[in-house]
Amino acid sequence: MSLKRRDFLGIAALSSATLVTGKATASEAPAHNPDALGVLVDTAVCSGCRKCEWACNRTHELTDRPMSTFEDKTVFELHRRPDRDAFTVVNQFIAPENPEKPYAIKVQCMHCLRPACVSACIVGALEKTPEGPVIYDAWKCIGCRYCIVACPFQIPAYEYDEALAPEVKKCSFCYERVVKEGKLPACTEICPNEALTFGRRDELIDIAHSRIKNHPGMYYDHVYGEHEVGGTSWLYLTPTDFKNTELPDVGTEVGPDITEPIQHGVFKAFVPPLALYGLLGLAMHQFKGEKDKAEETE
Ligand code: SF4
Ligand code: SF4
Ligand code: SF4
Repeated sequence: MSLKRRDFLGIAALSSATLVTGKATASEAPAHNPDALGVLVDTAVCSGCRKCEWACNRTHELTDRPMSTFEDKTVFELHRRPDRDAFTVVNQFIAPENPEKPYAIKVQCMHCLRPACVSACIVGALEKTPEGPVIYDAWKCIGCRYCIVACPFQIPAYEYDEALAPEVKKCSFCYERVVKEGKLPACTEICPNEALTFGRRDELIDIAHSRIKNHPGMYYDHVYGEHEVGGTSWLYLTPTDFKNTELPDVGTEVGPDITEPIQHGVFKAFVPPLALYGLLGLAMHQFKGEKDKAEETE
């Protein structure tokens, strides 16, 4: 049986990931971990088949719909976001360089290296693991939803209609499968086009730059996530400037560096939660809005 490169990278990465122990939070600015995991999303080869959506939904028991129902391409008429019933979605975008050919882009939690959601959570319900995934503990969560406000990618969703024990929902990077069971993330395992490469983040960055160099004209010369918000575990290659895609221009500043001083000050002064929402919202608005402001001025 031949081993695909995607599988090899995953298995090699998993072997070393099991050796990593200990915990870190965003505010502790964990030291660089060369074995940390990631996924490289190559939007130039993604066909938009939505099999990754189905695999994620099935693995996390979000649906019992058959795969055939995910072949519906009319969903691309909408701009969808991950939500409580879909931890990942595939959308379409048009590259101005080639308007006849629509491209597809998979969206999910970016598993930031310095996650604003972890920083914003006052009870430690979100945790950046040393292996890479940002995971959530529903038992610790008090439902304040600061994480939702803080996330620069607008990823965490909330079960507003759950009266008794609503939870925050987002992609877990298949933490149980990947770190505990030594498997690939369900979405990367099923992708038929190898648009999703799972492996060590450092190695994926090298692969991404090699693809850009070796395929002139195929990619925009930027690996999205290498530096955005201080770096993310999920990385993207795009055939056009990422600003023509779903990927937000969040800059390279680390989110927690903006929100943490506010929170620490707030808790010293015991400011009520609604005021904190406002302050965090303002901070994140400023964090995300630098580019928009510049464009508006122009
Ligand atoms: S399974 Fe792969 S090719 Fe299909 S939509 Fe998802 S990322 Fe794209
Ligand atoms: S994308 Fe949002 S939810 Fe995911 S780790 Fe980053 S800040 Fe947290
Ligand atoms: S890593 Fe797991 S939880 Fe995240 S999008 Fe892929 S299948 Fe879903």
